[in-house]
Parts: sequence; C-alpha cells; structure tokens
Amino acid sequence: MRIGGLQKISAIDYPGRVGCVVFTVGCNYHCPYCHNPDLVRPKGPDFMSEADFFAFLSERTHFLDGVSITGGEPCLQPDLADFCAKIKEMGFLVKLDTNGSLPGVTAGLIKKHLVDYIAMDVKTAPERYEPLAGPGLSPDTLVQSIDLIKNSGLPCEFRTTCVRPFVDEAAVHRIADLVAGAPLYVLQHCGKERMLDPEFFDQDPVIGAEEMERFKNIAQNRVERCIIR
Ligand code: SF4
Repeated sequence: MRIGGLQKISAIDYPGRVGCVVFTVGCNYHCPYCHNPDLVRPKGPDFMSEADFFAFLSERTHFLDGVSITGGEPCLQPDLADFCAKIKEMGFLVKLDTNGSLPGVTAGLIKKHLVDYIAMDVKTAPERYEPLAGPGLSPDTLVQSIDLIKNSGLPCEFRTTCVRPFVDEAAVHRIADLVAGAPLYVLQHCGKERMLDPEFFDQDPVIGAEEMERFKNIAQNRVERCIIR
C-alpha cells in the first residue's frame, strides 16, 4: 500500500464515528480542482510505510472506531483488499472513498465484507467526465459503480463537489436520477486554494450559496437526505 498522508484523528470523515484518514498515492483522474495534487502527481517519497501505519494503528485500538481510506484513488492499489483485511482484523471499521472508476475492485471488497461504509464522488453527469477522467472511462462504468454501492446494503453516500463548468442544474438532475434512493447525497462547496490545474478554468469555478441551494432543491426529494457541506 502506498501511503501519501495520514490524518491521525477525525470526528467528521466517518459518519458517527471517530477515525483516522489514510491517503493513498495516485489517481487515474486529473480533476483540475483537485485539492490533493501531491497525491495525484507525487514528486517525493511516500509519506509513510505500511508497517509504520499499522504500528500507529495498533496504539489506537481504544481511541479510534474506524479507518477512512481515501486518495488519490484507493482502488488503484493492488493490495487494497489485504490492507482492508488487516485493518478489520484489528477490530476497526473501514470506510472507502472512491471515484467510482473501478467497480470490480469495489465489488470484491463488498463481497469479502472488507468495507463497512462507502462514499463515492459523482463529479458530474457520467457523460461529461472526459475533461476529468480522459476519454477511456465509460459512463456505464460510473453507473455500474453507483448501482453497486446503492444496492450493497452498506451505509453509503454520494458526493458532488460543485465546480463550474462541471456541475450545473442539468448535471444535478442527471446525478439525482442515478443516486435516487440513496441514504445521503452531499453537495460540496469548492474552494480555490491548492488546485491541481488552476489554469484550466477560464471562468470562476466557485459556485455560490444560492445556486447550491437550487441544486439541493433538485436533489433532495430523490434521496433520503441531501446536505450542503
Ligand atoms: S479530486 Fe479525487 S478523483 Fe479527482 S484527481 Fe483528485 S483525488 Fe483524483
């Protein structure tokens, strides 16, 4: 497991739990607004070894409920299942954050009961992903991931970082159709600090509070709970 960062404690990342957040190195998308450019395009050595991470974790069995695995894109790591299994053997819950590009990996984790909570980013309508993920990602793959996670029986959430030009009312309508019935849909504000490719934007990417409320009005009747964060 390539580890690019560790947040030792978080009371908000794993809903209802206190956990740590481990960041994996590498991503197959290149969202220009990505706030973790050092993970997506790593320049130096990894932040810590897997052995050091488990040493950290073994000292926290009484303080932490779970581990959130985020990225980058964790599903790119070939030993992700083993990593989750080790965490679970120590008695922790596992939350996976994914961009939805690798439903086969997510399905494997679900099948083996190696994950307890899944959060998937739905960045825009699946048909509009090319500037974010390149031409190789099929919209069907994203729809497959959404359906898989929604029907997994696990607690889950879908999240959209609201950034112009990727997210508008049409995109939110499409996403709301896809995530309909989900327990939680989160519309996230985007800040301008630390972007992967700020030159990409020829207009202000930040979407204001009024427009975010309009997005919420579109989505909130399709899911159990819709929040702006
Ligand atoms: S925002 Fe997420 S999916 Fe996009 S490049 Fe960054 S880590 Fe990858």
